[in-house]
Amino acid sequence: MTIELKNFIAGTWVESKTTFAKTSPFDGSHVATVHEATEQMVDDAVTAGRAVSIGKRSTEWGDLPQVRRLAIIEDFAARLMARVDDLVEAEVADTGRSYWQARTFDGARSAGLFTAYANLARGLEARTRNFDTPNGDRAFWYTTRRPKGVIGAICPWNVPLLMACMKVAPALVMGNAAILKPSEETPSSATVLAEVVAQSDIPDGAFSLIHGFGPNSAGGFLTSHPDVDAITFTGESGTGMAIMKAAADGLREVSLELGGKNAALVFEDADMDQVIEGVTRSAFFNCGQICFCTERAYVHRSRADEFISRLAEVANNIIVGDQQHNGFSIGPLISRGHRDKVVGLLDTVKQSGGEFVAGGGIPEFGDTRDAGAFVQPSVAIGLPETATFVKEEAFGPVIHVAPFDEEDEAVALTNDTRYGLSTSIWTQDINRAHRLAPRIRVGHAWINSWQLRDLLSPLAGAGISGVGDQGGQLSLEFCSLPQTITTRIFGDKA
Ligand code: NAD
Repeated sequence: MTIELKNFIAGTWVESKTTFAKTSPFDGSHVATVHEATEQMVDDAVTAGRAVSIGKRSTEWGDLPQVRRLAIIEDFAARLMARVDDLVEAEVADTGRSYWQARTFDGARSAGLFTAYANLARGLEARTRNFDTPNGDRAFWYTTRRPKGVIGAICPWNVPLLMACMKVAPALVMGNAAILKPSEETPSSATVLAEVVAQSDIPDGAFSLIHGFGPNSAGGFLTSHPDVDAITFTGESGTGMAIMKAAADGLREVSLELGGKNAALVFEDADMDQVIEGVTRSAFFNCGQICFCTERAYVHRSRADEFISRLAEVANNIIVGDQQHNGFSIGPLISRGHRDKVVGLLDTVKQSGGEFVAGGGIPEFGDTRDAGAFVQPSVAIGLPETATFVKEEAFGPVIHVAPFDEEDEAVALTNDTRYGLSTSIWTQDINRAHRLAPRIRVGHAWINSWQLRDLLSPLAGAGISGVGDQGGQLSLEFCSLPQTITTRIFGDKA
């Protein structure tokens, strides 16, 4: 049976004359036929979204009392949670990852964001201040948070459902209309999300789903639409720059969560068991396709050989391509196209004077997985800091290890990148950890851990890793306009 994934626009499932095939990176099999949204469909979604958030139907959503809107969202969240098995299936089908990973990392964790954001919104406090007018009257002001209107949410393929929920939940909670454009590589879980919206009391138009690509397709139509009031995007830095340019027309606000070239810093006093467990996850989890993944490790010279041989041994023994494995393993990259890019970077290692102590190529299975997009977990050493492999984001299961001698040198090496997303510092010296973390120019620094994340904590990036911070209260603020209401109290004229 062919699965057809349609657009969901203003409460209606909409087919398109143009479709594209979504294939599995696990074995190249056909996953679904996806209907690509046209410019007219995107316009219909925007028009309906405007009406229900800040337009003539705003009493149905944007101007609905918060207590009623949040009750609808919490009912929706419960319905979504009841579909968690379908969300997991969708994520596994699109990405080729294991069921264990989809269950522990994606499914319920994503669905839970709607309740988390509803609770956070209930606790939002307004600001207020009394002041005197020049003629002696009194006055005061208070702030209220208004929906911005239509928020375009453009998502990447690496953690499709989680990214979608991180954007859609705060947008809806604050009374906006959300238009979700999932990656063309991962249309399935977003479609389950839309199915649940269709069964809920979220009014038509408050959520729309459009499928397609970037330029001259759904993504481009959405970002260039003048009635899209704000855009929240996660993806590559280059795409973020293109979207920021598109949003400049009409001065629409953007939040851009972009790429990284993250470093781990391992000091001489680190607990090497903890380090190897942590760096294995940080380099290889999700086949290295997490924006926070570690692609550079700087290790104190006294521990570098030990680190390299232990990490290489672990990398050589990671389970690859077993979707039923009930624990850490890695699946394929998202597509053959992405694998070409990662393999292209692997190929630069020898040319730049480096070598692999683990991996460095494509695994062979001797079965249908050879039609997938797998790559070996790879550990490289011996490269100069100027090498392409050390500078460019691979977004794959690859890491380069280099030694350092001094603390200041380690900080300088870590900061020597145009990116600025995350780092992890491994040391038993608590003073050193807290002395150094603020010196690393990144949005998130982990100490003796990696990706230990409260999803409501701030998410920011320096350099080309992003602008317009998100996460928790910051997301609620991004999705709303702080309106100041000032009133004058006339004095007694008697
Ligand atoms: P991508 O930039 O290729 O695509 C992301 C989305 O943008 C897709 O939905 C795509 O269709 C759309 N798109 C592409 N061009 C567009 C355009 N011109 N206008 C409008 N939409 C457009 O990114 P990707 O390959 O899907 O994701 C991988 C990247 O995402 C990596 O660089 C990774 O570091 C980054 N990422 C960052 C974070 C973070 O929080 N900082 C999180 C996850 C992923």
